[in-house]
Amino acid sequence: VIETMLCSQGKQPREITIQGKGSQILEARLVPFASDSASRVLIGFFHDVTEEKRVEAIKRDFVANVSHELRTPLASIKGYAETLLDGALEDKTTLKNFLTIIDRHANRMTALIEDLLTLSMLESHQMPMSFESLDIKGLIKSVIQGFEKQAKDKGIELIMNLGREIPKIMADKDRLEQVIVNLVDNAIKYTNRGTVRVLTEKSDDMLQVNVEDTGIGIPEKDIPRIFERFYRVDKGRSRELGGTGLGLAIVKHIIQGHNGKIWVKSQPGKGTIFSFTVPAVS
Ligand code: ADP
Repeated sequence: VIETMLCSQGKQPREITIQGKGSQILEARLVPFASDSASRVLIGFFHDVTEEKRVEAIKRDFVANVSHELRTPLASIKGYAETLLDGALEDKTTLKNFLTIIDRHANRMTALIEDLLTLSMLESHQMPMSFESLDIKGLIKSVIQGFEKQAKDKGIELIMNLGREIPKIMADKDRLEQVIVNLVDNAIKYTNRGTVRVLTEKSDDMLQVNVEDTGIGIPEKDIPRIFERFYRVDKGRSRELGGTGLGLAIVKHIIQGHNGKIWVKSQPGKGTIFSFTVPAVS
């Protein structure tokens, strides 16, 4: 482009996008400057737009994902409703089966929309956290109680190993409960047999909580992307289990809002440990 511009007498500036080293993207504006018969000068402005492009791509993917996730259950609801209207309505058993399926898909859409709203409120800081000094023991106990039936039905042992002296933490109770519920729910969902265990340990001025399972695990290649919105190791399996693919993105946001950290270690076929930290009250 520079060569053509130097060779021509045109006065129009040109804008080009250049793939830089690696994934770097530059936008360049080349402007013809003073020129006389002997020489021609161009001024080039180079602007690194890698980050803007990355954010644009994330937004595009997000909209595409949301549309896809909503379209699938909606298509099923429409399909089953149309079949019923075409006559299947007369048969009581079919009617009940189809309505059950419609209800399940509608529930999935509701869960998805609720998760999207939560995520959007967290990201736009419209969901202010109200921090208080909190005893996490009570919180973990009540979450575990809520999951006892689900675990028992799958033959999974649900264990709580809380240290004797757990420091109080500074946290938003409802949001932190959401974190523990999501992690324990996932641990049970992605475990076919064995145990799900919640442990706490103090590390410096933070309290660490581990949710460990003996489930299917997460392949190493998927671990770096597991907290991304809609990222799922096995889409079909997650959907079947009622997952939206947004749970871990929400969890990560909440923990970051607490100035904590969250990470995962996993061995496919052996199990997974999700750990997070939140500040202890000094
Ligand atoms: P989902 O609604 O699909 O469960 P999440 O954001 O909660 O969405 O989790 C994203 C993906 O991470 C899941 O689809 C699953 O593939 C994987 N995952 C999360 N927790 C576990 C776990 N304890 N064991 C194995 N895989 C897990």
